[in-house]
Order: sequence, then C-alpha cells, then structure tokens
Amino acid sequence: MTTNDPDRNEAGNLGTDRNQSKGESNLVHVALAGNPNSGKTSIFNNLTGAHQRVGNYPGVTVEQVQGEYACEAKTYRVTDLPGTYSLSAMSAEERVARRHLAEQNPDVVVNVVDSTNLERNLYLTVQLIELGVNLVLVLNMDDEATKQGITIDSGLLSTLLGGIPVVRAQGHRGVGNDDIKEAIADAVETRRRNVTLPWGRDIDEALKRIEDQLAAIDTTPFPKYWVAVKLLEKDVEISHLIEQAGGQLVLSEVQDEAKRLRNIMGDSLVVILAERRYGFIAGMLREALKRPSTFDRVSLSDKIDQVVTNRFLGFPIFITVLYVIFWLTFKAGEPLSNWLSDGIGWFAAGIEAIWPAHHGLLFRSLLVDGIIAGVGAVIVFLPSVVILFMGLAFLEDTGYMARAAFLMDTVMHRIGLHGKSFLPMMVGFGCNVPAVMATRILENRRDRLVTMMVIPLFSCGARLPAYILIISAFFGSGHKALMLLGIYGIGVLLAGLLARLLRSTILSGENTPFVMELPPYRMPTSKAIVQHATRRSWTYLRKAGTIILAISILLWGLSTFPIKQKYTVDEQVAHGLQLSKAELQTRRSAERLEYSMSGRIGRAMNPALHTMGLDWRVGTAFLGAFAAKEVFITQMGIIFSASSGADRSKRLIAGIQHAYSPLAGLAIMLFLLIASPCMATFAAVKQESGSWKWPILQWTGLTLLGYLLATVVYQLGSLL
Ligand code: GDP
Ligand code: MG
Repeated sequence: MTTNDPDRNEAGNLGTDRNQSKGESNLVHVALAGNPNSGKTSIFNNLTGAHQRVGNYPGVTVEQVQGEYACEAKTYRVTDLPGTYSLSAMSAEERVARRHLAEQNPDVVVNVVDSTNLERNLYLTVQLIELGVNLVLVLNMDDEATKQGITIDSGLLSTLLGGIPVVRAQGHRGVGNDDIKEAIADAVETRRRNVTLPWGRDIDEALKRIEDQLAAIDTTPFPKYWVAVKLLEKDVEISHLIEQAGGQLVLSEVQDEAKRLRNIMGDSLVVILAERRYGFIAGMLREALKRPSTFDRVSLSDKIDQVVTNRFLGFPIFITVLYVIFWLTFKAGEPLSNWLSDGIGWFAAGIEAIWPAHHGLLFRSLLVDGIIAGVGAVIVFLPSVVILFMGLAFLEDTGYMARAAFLMDTVMHRIGLHGKSFLPMMVGFGCNVPAVMATRILENRRDRLVTMMVIPLFSCGARLPAYILIISAFFGSGHKALMLLGIYGIGVLLAGLLARLLRSTILSGENTPFVMELPPYRMPTSKAIVQHATRRSWTYLRKAGTIILAISILLWGLSTFPIKQKYTVDEQVAHGLQLSKAELQTRRSAERLEYSMSGRIGRAMNPALHTMGLDWRVGTAFLGAFAAKEVFITQMGIIFSASSGADRSKRLIAGIQHAYSPLAGLAIMLFLLIASPCMATFAAVKQESGSWKWPILQWTGLTLLGYLLATVVYQLGSLL
C-alpha cells in the first residue's frame, strides 16, 4: 500500500509550499474525496478500471481501496477515501480522510460533489481548501442536476475557487472520465493557489497569532494554518497532538483568543466558523448556480419516504424487504448449489475412480475426504452467499438502508443504541468481522462496545450454509424460508435483549442524538451491485481457499489419526449379520472417527451434547466452527459422508436425518447462531475494543447462552 512506500515518507515541510518538491517522480498520487453517495466510488471505478486493491488504512480498519491507471508515461495511483461530510474529528472516517490527506500529501485531490446538492457538498470542498490540498472539483450527478433544471456555471465556479479545474461528470455512466483525467494531469502541472477563506478580520488575526505561536512546535503531518483553525474549533485530536508536542502555552493562548472572539461575536467558534464557510458557499452559489424558481421541493424521494418511513407502514415494509431477500437467497440459490454440489461430487468420484488401487490411499483420502469435501462444502453455498450480498448491496445503493437505519432509530433507542448502530448490524449478516469494524461509524465508545458485543448474534453468511443444511434435512419445503427468517429473527431479538442488558449494566451512559443524512433514492446500476457483491463474496471464497483449506486438512488429520487397526465388526461377523459391503464400510468409518482424535475430543464433550439431543459428531463439528463457521459444514461433510461417491450433500442430509431429531436440529441451529463467535470475530473485537476483556467476555457469555438456550429448547420440546 502506498502508505508505506519509501518514496512517500517526506512528511514534513507542510507549509504553503506543499507538493512542490515532488515533480521528479512518475508516480502521481491522487486521492478521491467527497460526501457519501456523491458517486466517488463510481468515478474511482471509471478511472482505475479493474485494477483495484482493497485493504485497510494502516492502524485503523476503515476500508482503503486503491487502484491505478496510466496516462502519458505517468502512473496515477488513486485512493478512494472514505465518504465524509466534513474534516472534523467526529467520526473515524473523517479522521482517516484528513490523516491520509495530511500524511500522504497526495499530488492531487479530486473532490467529487453531488451537483444537485452543492450547498452541502461544497462544505467539504471548503475544508479541503483550508487544508491546502491541490484540488480538482468534479460536479457529478450532472444528469440529475439537469433533470431538476439546475444550471451551474462551472467556469465561474472555477474562477471563484481560484482557478482550480472544475469538471462535469456522470459517474454511473462513465461520462466525463477523460475530462477528469485531463484535469488531474493539468493540476499536477500547474498548481493553483488556493483561495483564502473570508473569515473576517478578527478571526484572521487570531489565526495569524496562533500560527506564529505554532512556529516552534512540530505539528507534523498537519499544516500549521489548518492546525490553527482546528484549535479554534476545539478539535480534540489536534488539541491532543499539540499538547503532546509540548504546546501547552499555545493551547492557553488559543483559549484566550477563543474567549475574546466569543465575546465579540456572541457564539461559539465552531458555530461561527461553520457559518462563515456556509456563507462563503452561499455567496459563490448565488453567482454560479441557477435553479428554477418553480423547483418542486417535494421530490420523488420525499414521496417515497412518506410511505417507507411511515410510522405504521415502515416496519412491515422493512420486514417484507428482508424476507424477500432471504427468500431469494434460499430459492434462487438452491438449484445453483445443487449443480455445484453434483459437479464437485462427480469430480471427487472421478478422482477415486482413476486412483490406482492399493497406492497412496491415505493421500487419496486426504485429497477427496479432506480437501475436496472440505473446500467443496463451502463453495457449494457460494450462490446463496452471492445473492445475499447482492441484496444487501442493493439496499445500500438505493438508499433504503439509510431509511432502515432511520426507521430503526426509535427501536434502537429503546435498547439504548443509536440508529446508526443498525448499519454495522446489517453488515453483520454478511460477515461479523467487517461488521465489528464498521462500528467505527459510531462516535460514542459505549455505543460502539455494545454494538460490537451483540454483532455475533447477527447471523453471518458463513452460518447460512449450515442452517440451509439443517432446514433441508428436517423441515418441510413449505416452511424453509420462514424457518430461516425465524432463526435470523431469534438472533436479532437476543441481540436487542443483550444490548439492553449491557446498556443498563456495565455499559450504561448517555444516548447520542440521531444525526443521519437520508440520501436521495437512486436506482443503482447493476455494475455497482455486482462489484459490491463480488468484493464481499471474494472475501468468502478467499477464506475457503486459505483458512478453510488449512483447517480442512487439520480436521481431516484430527479425524483420521490415530488410525484404527482393528474393528469390532470384522468381515466374518459382518457376513453373519448379513451386512452389505457398503453398510460395513459405513460402520467402519464411524468407528474410525470415534477412535480418532476429534472423536475423542467430541466424546469428552458428550455429556454436555446429550442435553441438547446431540452427540460427539456434532461436537467435533462445533469445534471446527470456532475456527470459522463454515467449517461446521465441512466437518459434518467429512463425518457423515466419509465413504466416497457422488451426491455427497444428499447423503449428508440423509445421515443427519438418521442421526438426530428435528428438535436436535433446532438445537444445532441455535447453538451455531449464538455460541462461540469465530476466531476472526474474536480477533476483530480484541483489536477494535483495545483489550482482551471484551472478546473474552463476549465469547464465554455467548457460548454459555447458546448452550443454555439450545438445552432448554431441546428439553422442553422433548417434554411436549
Ligand atoms: P459513493 O458513496 O460516493 O462512493 O457513491 P457511489 O459511487 O457508490 O454512487 C452512489 C450511487 O449513485 C450509485 O447508485 C451510483 O450508481 C449513482 N451515481 C453515481 N454517479 C452518478 C451520476 O452521475 N448520476 C446518477 N444519476 N447517479 C450516479
Ligand atoms: Mg463509495
């Protein structure tokens, strides 16, 4: 990642002469900045095509997407910054964005704005100007602006902004892509002087004095002028930085200045500076923007919102939407999964058929029963996972997800959480690991911790295959989708109760008020959805290819060694019992497993498993599920179809049906849902909470809860 590139560590020298010492390199660093939903990612994709890399910003877990393109012997490396409305330190995104801009000091910053909402979008632009970056402004959503009758004089806007390039674009269609590239190249060649913001004389003088005081202090990587502005705004992170750098004197000077200015202006400086910025924007737009006076304020978005965020209709609509997505996941995914399963079965059978008899049978077993069975069991569910991710991407891209969060705010407040917590929770349905990371959008640490603690109850995509397996085995075709919804619902319900419990005990404290932008509804392009879904599905597949492969081999080893030499049923006894060859095989593989290491571990847990109507076989699979939830099904596959042949998954289902009751099936699902968050989630919670205490508490708490609930359900159910 660029952040560690050796040619980029010239962090100092950040006065007005930034960017001037870097002309030699052929590598141009470009950062894309903009509000959420301004079309940044669309433009990023247009610029870089398929050449992208996704990672995390160093030290923090906000997604970093980078890509490159070449143009006239130069390579342009583009970073898609997280979407932000501002560059204050209010959220992790904002801190990441401004840190990146200051530390990486990109050669050009492309600011993508939504032309239909310039008043709000230019607020970030103004802050970028304050930070002193080399700016290119992209007026995106040109089509929508035209539709609304908005005309923008881009030439005049450019002039008012000190001559920076201003380009029109339609990100979703790739319109304006060449113009943007040209503008970037142009900005690299000739850097425009940024306009000075009209703060007014009093503030300007105060800023000047603070800047002078800062001369002796190392403010790396931030420019001093900007630091002065942030200090006046009481920015926590920057104040802390100055304190660390030994600037106590400056801080007290800042306090004096702030007090003086407040006396003159009668309001806090945060408010005043924001007002000045908006004033500057309003002035500019009065000149450069025309909107029809008859402009219909009640837009289509507003009309839709009247229905979907309606007090009575909103919630049923939301449940319906979720149900449809889960239904699609199940129904549309099933035939594809069956084909894949058949294909993998034939492949395994083919290998067994051509394998030379009596040679390397242990290795054949490793390949067929360990690797193909293990990884195959995960790949089989790829269609369902892709569909689920596409559904979530659709909800996000249309703007409905934000409404759902808005809608959920009342409910969330009842469990002591912020409406925003809802977003990471939704992500949790995909994978708990990014969900834990997504809690960074929450500003309040308590909110973050509570959300993080309950996220494992939002059933991730990796658990889906196991549910589908169990449901297929035990519950009639008419109720499948309902069952699936039910198990997800139980998770959500428990999450609510648990959050409430945490909120009223170890994590009690103030609620934060709800502030969230409702972006206008948009029909997402299929390209965007596919990209979104493939990126997440790829994570799933990559897990199958690496971690799951390794664990499959390990588990195969655990369930193969020590090798059993003597069987209770030998050939002669089998003959006497009239057992067929296949039946003998099956008995023997069961014996082998029981004798093996994982069988022994499983059996040690037998008493506990019996109370849930289960036995050591599921126990060994639960063991695997701690490593990664997908492994549950991998292990079940190995245990129940230890002998070879096609249609493994059908035989797996038959095996489970034979071994357990439907009630025990329910217990399996409950235990998988609630107990033992996977290793990766454990690690993420450790990292995000900053201590071992939380993941350990979470793991033990949920495992106990899962065990108790599964037991109670099984025992009560058996009584009835
Ligand atoms: P980001 O959040 O800033 O990264 O925005 P995205 O690139 O994800 O875009 C948000 C939505 O706006 C997507 O559904 C895009 O297809 C859509 N979009 C992007 N650019 C345009 C545009 O110029 N016009 C219209 N009508 N939609 C756009
Ligand atoms: Mg984006």
